[in-house]
Amino acid sequence: MRAAWISASDGGRLRCELCPHGCAIAEGKFGLCGVRANSRGEGQLPLAGRPSSLAIDPIEKKPLYRFLPGTMVYSVGFFGCTMRCPFCQNWEISQHTTERGLPYPSTDLIADAVESGCPSIAFTYSEPTVHFEYVLEAASHAREAGLKTVLVTNGMLAAGPAEELMSTIDAVNLDIKCFSPAAYRRVLGGDLPTVLEFARIAARHSWLEVTTLVVPGLDEWEVAVGGISDFLSGLSPHIPLHLSAYHPAWNYDAPPTSPNLLEKLRALAAERLESVYVGNVAGEKSTDLCSECGAILVERQGFRVTRMGLSGISGIFGPPLASPSSRCANCGHPEFFITR
Ligand code: SF4
Repeated sequence: MRAAWISASDGGRLRCELCPHGCAIAEGKFGLCGVRANSRGEGQLPLAGRPSSLAIDPIEKKPLYRFLPGTMVYSVGFFGCTMRCPFCQNWEISQHTTERGLPYPSTDLIADAVESGCPSIAFTYSEPTVHFEYVLEAASHAREAGLKTVLVTNGMLAAGPAEELMSTIDAVNLDIKCFSPAAYRRVLGGDLPTVLEFARIAARHSWLEVTTLVVPGLDEWEVAVGGISDFLSGLSPHIPLHLSAYHPAWNYDAPPTSPNLLEKLRALAAERLESVYVGNVAGEKSTDLCSECGAILVERQGFRVTRMGLSGISGIFGPPLASPSSRCANCGHPEFFITR
């Protein structure tokens, strides 16, 4: 498959403009993500359409708590990533690009997703945006087939491709990994301004939820969560924030996040945002209540929805973060949940 957002540069190199790294790729080499290649002066994608992982997951596992709650999502992942987080939980697929999964044409992927009975498909697990062309193609087929589309991403996508991709995506879970530009750059190999711009674009097009893995030592967490929740509330106070517990993985061995810190940060973020959830904690429960009558809208135990009290609204216009899509089944109060 030919690569988009790539053009001729100096000395036979190709310049990739998909993400802020802007790699100048020499003949026969790959960019920093290990996915996008210069093959005889042409941008090529040798790993295109070769999944690393396929599964059917609860949508709550993405995590998306207010998008099609209680449903399953057909989930596909690939190899490669634009970042190098030392605590990556999926490092075996995000940091290894020498593996080659079997080719899976996007039409077959979508036919299998429809066959599964899931109402949505997710591009997830490692970093799907480095497979921009395949994801764009598959997401377009998915929409034609009546499936909702989900992107789970680090947001390291330049504004042009982000606008193009988001026109095919119904819901996003975006990682904002900390709020220090220096830590993003030096520790994670990422770029915070690009991620924040991606959040602005995603919030204009789609339902957006954000995850922050609270990694000890990565940031001053009270300052960072204050900054993240301020930024998100400026886009929309309806954006849910998931504060997730870190557990040691790959090259990072700090002790796990303390539950007390997570709870303190949850309360801090809840001063600015309507929905803040703590995740990745054993036995965790969460409940959303109607702000009008106090009835249960959704009750969860881990990733399992145990009670639901929502009904749909017909005739919705505009982006999903701009107007409520559901009602409390008890009193009819409008609520920000996407139920279909
Ligand atoms: S997508 Fe890959 S090749 Fe392109 S600029 Fe980013 S890291 Fe480099």
